[in-house]
Amino acid sequence: MSKLHDYVIIGAGPAGSVFATLCARAGLDVCVIERQVFPRERVGESITVDCAKRLMRLGLPSPLAPSSAGSGWRIGAMKMHYESGATFQAKFPEELQHFLLRRAPFDDALLQEAKRSGAVYYEGNVNDLIVENQRAKGVVLRDGEEIRAKRLVVAASGREVGFLRKVVTYQADIGLQIFGGRAFCKKAYHIAQNEVELYVHQKDVAIVTPLDNGDEWAVFVLLHEPVRLEKQTEKGKSSQERAFRGMLRRFGGLSQKLSGVEFAPGIEFHSQMASYAKEISVKGLALIGNSFGYSDPLLSHGVDYAVEGAERLFSCVRSRQPEAAIARLHKATRRLLWLDVRLHRIAYEVVWRESLYAKILPSGETVSGIRLGEKATQLVWQLAGL
Ligand SMILES: Cc1cc2nc3c(=O)[nH]c(=O)nc-3n(C[C@H](O)[C@H](O)[C@H](O)COP(=O)(O)OP(=O)(O)OC[C@H]3O[C@@H](n4cnc5c(N)ncnc54)[C@H](O)[C@@H]3O)c2cc1C
Repeated sequence: MSKLHDYVIIGAGPAGSVFATLCARAGLDVCVIERQVFPRERVGESITVDCAKRLMRLGLPSPLAPSSAGSGWRIGAMKMHYESGATFQAKFPEELQHFLLRRAPFDDALLQEAKRSGAVYYEGNVNDLIVENQRAKGVVLRDGEEIRAKRLVVAASGREVGFLRKVVTYQADIGLQIFGGRAFCKKAYHIAQNEVELYVHQKDVAIVTPLDNGDEWAVFVLLHEPVRLEKQTEKGKSSQERAFRGMLRRFGGLSQKLSGVEFAPGIEFHSQMASYAKEISVKGLALIGNSFGYSDPLLSHGVDYAVEGAERLFSCVRSRQPEAAIARLHKATRRLLWLDVRLHRIAYEVVWRESLYAKILPSGETVSGIRLGEKATQLVWQLAGL
């Protein structure tokens, strides 16, 4: 016999867990299906202040909550290192500050909150959607089990959108294709606790960020050209670490600084292209978080976007005409991602050009204006009536 719930959510990342919690708290019959065993790592450790505030307002685990391990931990400045040897330091205004934390405990805390609130949790790998009369009716797990939805199937499955492609057409914007990786390592040299370091090599960026536990760093590498990982041949290290060090070599100064440093196991590689859901050919299916689309990680707001999507979808579900509201939400989200990709291009231009930065900002001044889109974003939501 198949299982039956009003709302069936695929994926327990920030988007799925937050939506599940909001539904469960409102007394709705909701289940969330996750294929990985939590706590699981996810790339994307910087949580914006906006996101932390949103989580607080919703009564959810937040880096701003007094009990949180990362409480009070804020990245408030950045230091850029250019190939030429030039360096540049600047402060972030309040809205560009962020918290650096490990996603494994953070995402797990959000999932535990969903369970505590009454959401039913299934461990399982969704293999397919059940579509009847042009309507999503549930999901099929890899072992063949069906979980059916009376009202809505919610895709919150992140970037792995394989089974959605049957009913969703994605628009890819190859102008923003990123390849890279992320590793955790022990502290190697001095970085101010509230500062993020960026190493720029042509169009590539490596980012070093202190984490909230105080003695670890996250190192990100974002490249514009895919590299062949198997080409790296350094003996005596794990193949992952060899590959990661190979990418770091582009950033000469950083690579040298980290040469003797130990990396923690579990380096993650990623390749992503800006994309978003253009058409959804069935009813009864809502997309949130990275299931809907993604732009790029440099401006660090993927989790914010996932949590905001969950909150907005919840208000659509509670509205008088949920289907119409969800259609408007999808339309507005599509516009925002389009806008986001354009703004990211501008932001990259700024990052690449040391001379541009130096002209706009004398060293040490506040970086602002990167969030040019804030007003435009509000306007898009208003136009959508959301
Ligand atoms: C290099 C990089 C750096 C980033 N940096 C940042 C950053 O600094 N700050 C930030 O806010 N964001 C960052 N992001 C983006 C951020 O990681 C994502 O936006 C965020 O995780 C999206 O949340 P989500 O809930 O939509 O999806 P996810 O967190 O991806 O969660 C989706 C869940 O669905 C599960 N799932 C997938 N398919 C299935 C299936 N078939 N069946 C069952 N379960 C399934 C997955 O196991 C996963 O747990 C970065 C991304 C990248 C690639």
